[in-house]
Amino acid sequence: MVNNIPEIFGSMVFSDKVMKERLPKEAYDAVRMAIENGTPLSHDAAKSVASVMKEWAIEKGATHFTHWFQPMTGITAEKHDSFIEPFGESEVIMKFSEKSLVKGEADGSSFPSGGLRATFEARGYTAWDPTSYAFVKDGSLYVPTAFCSYGGEALDKKTPLLRSLETFNKQALRILKLFGKDNVKKVTPTCGAEQEYFLIDKSVYEKRIDLIHCGRTLFGARPAKGQELEDHYYGAIKSRVSAYMKDLELELWKLGVYAKTKHNEVAPAQHELAPVFTSINIASDQNQLTMELMKSVANKHGLVCLLHEKPFASVSGSGKHDNWSITTDTKENLLDPGATPNENAQFLLFLMAVICAVDKHQDLLRISVASAGNDHRLGGDEAPPAIISIYLGEELENVLASIESGAEYNAKKKSELKIGVSVLPPIPKDSTDRNRTSPFAFTGNKFEFRMVGASTNIACPNFILNTIVADQLKEFADKLEKAENFNLALNKLIRASIKEHKRILFSGNSYSKEWQKEAKARGLLNLETTVDALPLYSQQKNVELFERHKVLSKGEINSRTEILLENYANIVHIEALTAIHIARKHIAPAIINYQAFLLNEIKLKKEYSIEISAKLEESLINKLASLSDCFYEALEKLIQDTTKYQKSWETLKKAKFCKNYLIKEMQTLRNYADQMELLMGKEYIKFPTYEDILYSVKY
Ligand code: ADP
Ligand code: MG
Repeated sequence: MVNNIPEIFGSMVFSDKVMKERLPKEAYDAVRMAIENGTPLSHDAAKSVASVMKEWAIEKGATHFTHWFQPMTGITAEKHDSFIEPFGESEVIMKFSEKSLVKGEADGSSFPSGGLRATFEARGYTAWDPTSYAFVKDGSLYVPTAFCSYGGEALDKKTPLLRSLETFNKQALRILKLFGKDNVKKVTPTCGAEQEYFLIDKSVYEKRIDLIHCGRTLFGARPAKGQELEDHYYGAIKSRVSAYMKDLELELWKLGVYAKTKHNEVAPAQHELAPVFTSINIASDQNQLTMELMKSVANKHGLVCLLHEKPFASVSGSGKHDNWSITTDTKENLLDPGATPNENAQFLLFLMAVICAVDKHQDLLRISVASAGNDHRLGGDEAPPAIISIYLGEELENVLASIESGAEYNAKKKSELKIGVSVLPPIPKDSTDRNRTSPFAFTGNKFEFRMVGASTNIACPNFILNTIVADQLKEFADKLEKAENFNLALNKLIRASIKEHKRILFSGNSYSKEWQKEAKARGLLNLETTVDALPLYSQQKNVELFERHKVLSKGEINSRTEILLENYANIVHIEALTAIHIARKHIAPAIINYQAFLLNEIKLKKEYSIEISAKLEESLINKLASLSDCFYEALEKLIQDTTKYQKSWETLKKAKFCKNYLIKEMQTLRNYADQMELLMGKEYIKFPTYEDILYSVKY
């Protein structure tokens, strides 16, 4: 039993509170300046922080330190050095210099750079990010860092996020100034990432090479019972899962992660954890930490946590709802509809900034969640489609429609809708969140981006979201700052923006076929796969956008495109090889054995008496014989094309080949295998079936 949570919470974090208590005042002030304004730390201040941090970490049991970073591989990286330093002949002292805190050199040659770093300059640097707190885990002091090349180009997911925060703050402050909010000094996006995951027993996992190599099953017939009864969602949590969740929460709380909500999700064996939202850079680091701990804690419980977007066909995949809003240092949520005319006009302007940004940059949002894994999820029956649209809720859509037409908004509470002189009717929070099919939904005082995949590092969708909204705020500010009559200009601007971008608003069922047609008629993008989306990263408008805000250079964009495409191709290629392996080593022998068994039975029956029939056996063997022929052909085709695939091809060619051939061929092969699985005797199938896996945690 744990009952001193407030004491345990954040106990392993070198938090603001710890720094305030332990650092000399000048050093503490310098850190605050670094966090709030990005002012670089002086040599002396950094020295003081390093020394205090080391003492604190040693008290918490640390013997090592590591610069913790987020390379483009999508997972975090760490290299541990101990604090020991030889002293005299045979003794050591514990040392952590200011240099070790601030900057690290990582031989980055094995991390993807997408051509940014020539091999003769393979050095990569990690640089301390003081805006995210250091912590102690497993006997090491973790220092959150950004990772860049010798020339300062970003090689990680964090750097563009930090850069996007600067431009976002600058542009949002310009807008607030126009509304007379001179007291606001800082504007930060906030984020709460709801994390979905599957939890299965380790014993079944270890027998599935596809789960081990690819994180998803490449074969498996649907179980008799899937999720159709909807009895798992919010159902009672099994005791083993509950023990796991408690353990996980405790570990997260120690590390200062605000783990708050837990529940069973729609699919069998699927669950969710949601934290209380926080500032976006911290939320992003904490989500990485959450994913890591989800896996390591599972291991202690004899379980395996799957974070793949679609580990099982035929049941829901796992996403990560990225809840995004904007907050000021004066504690105002800028996406909260206000109670005064002035606040409402301000709310509408920020709301319009998001709407315009999303419409203009549908491609970038799709790119921000693009991966081989997420392709299996987007467009499925249970996940948002690959088409981006915004759900505002009826109330707000009506408000915008009446602003556009200049008509009076006819709400229950009668109100005039000339912006700046009117009050919006209160927008009830629960009326805005009825549509679970929307990829981008307004939910009362925040937006929920639902296309993000379970394994995605949220730094990416968030730096893109920050940048595109910052750009729109900039455009608004450029216009409004010049206006002679602010209210008039504001009115005009909002009305024109609605007219121009309302095509992105959709409140119907985004999963429906009709929406696909309608979206096409509206001219919205439908980038079905990663391979369709990624080449758009470097189109002119995007290069200009990112360079304008100093978030990414053209070279960095190209390198990212290259890395992401390469990653896609590698994943699919590994999946194809794994599918072939399983088909040959496991499925083919099982089918052959079972067919031999059936033929033998038929033969025995005939020998026993010519009169006796063998209808069941014959029907099975006939079906299996024809399916196994098809299976053979599909396997041959996959083998042929996997052999054709050349690692030396240019990246886009590889990715296209994977999309056009390997993925489709794997699917065909799987269809035959799954049909045969349903016809075969259980004892012939040598690996755990969907039934075995999805219900592996029984109590
Ligand atoms: P659901 O989407 O499942 O209905 P909630 O509405 O309770 O769940 O919230 C989901 C997530 O949204 C939580 O992680 C919560 O902290 C986060 N959230 C709430 N307010 C904000 C905000 N202002 N900014 C960012 N995230 C927020
Ligand atoms: Mg949600």
